[in-house]
Amino acid sequence: MILDAFNLRGKVAIVTGCGTGLGRGMALGLAEAGANIAGIYNKSEPDCSALIGKMGRRFLGIKADLADLDQIEPLVEQTVESFGRVDILINNAGIIRRQPALEFTRENWDEVVNLNLRSLFFLAQAVAKRFVAQKSGGKIVNIASMLSFQGGILVPSYTASKSGVMGLTRELACEWAGQNINVNAIAPGYMATENTRALQEDPIRSVDIMKRIPAGRWGKPSDLAGAVVFLASDAANYIHGYTLAVDGGWLAR
Ligand code: NAD
Repeated sequence: MILDAFNLRGKVAIVTGCGTGLGRGMALGLAEAGANIAGIYNKSEPDCSALIGKMGRRFLGIKADLADLDQIEPLVEQTVESFGRVDILINNAGIIRRQPALEFTRENWDEVVNLNLRSLFFLAQAVAKRFVAQKSGGKIVNIASMLSFQGGILVPSYTASKSGVMGLTRELACEWAGQNINVNAIAPGYMATENTRALQEDPIRSVDIMKRIPAGRWGKPSDLAGAVVFLASDAANYIHGYTLAVDGGWLAR
């Protein structure tokens, strides 16, 4: 049955930034499809733990600052100690800083590129090493953006990082496909979360954005659940290096 290929029963997924917004939505979707979740957070304990427990799956919250590369290997070890293995990585944690390019500070550059690209790569590397050691293969889904395809305004470090995420997704896919590791990405459109609060609250930009979305609404975290379950499942076994837009038609415009 083709639907069996989408089933994640018994799989273990690491989801970064799982306490809020899109990460929370994807963690819930993966758990609904059967996966146990190691949820990485850096602020308050995620509330998805109880919901995932009610679905009959296990949730392990791991507090870590992903900007600190020394915290990456221990979180993978903790996941494996607790669940015995890891099958899926959702590389979702990310930040944005808005400032005109002429005034853009080094801090705003470094903070964004370090988390969105540097940490994303080293976490993918740490998890892929585990997939190789397990001889299991595995799935990595990186979270890209519309700004992997477009320029944007006031967000030079974010655009650079997310364009880098799309390129790196292709590069890692080429290196690791032969070991049954699928590396793909999801590019969310304009989603109503903390990340886009400034845009949602800008009376001019928010109306302009809405008018340009063919679906006629901002996206919700649950809109990513279908795409992430698919890319994390056996149904996507022959998909490598692709960035799937979930954008209400924004890029088609
Ligand atoms: P969000 O701000 O709610 O989520 C970001 C998450 O990353 C938070 O849970 C935060 O705690 C975590 N995080 C930040 N710094 C961290 C650190 N140093 N260590 C560990 N965790 C850290 O916003 P979101 O919209 O859910 O964003 C999730 C991802 O989706 C980001 O990569 C973002 O760039 C991307 N994205 C969002 C949109 C959108 O419209 N909301 C569009 C495209 C891409």
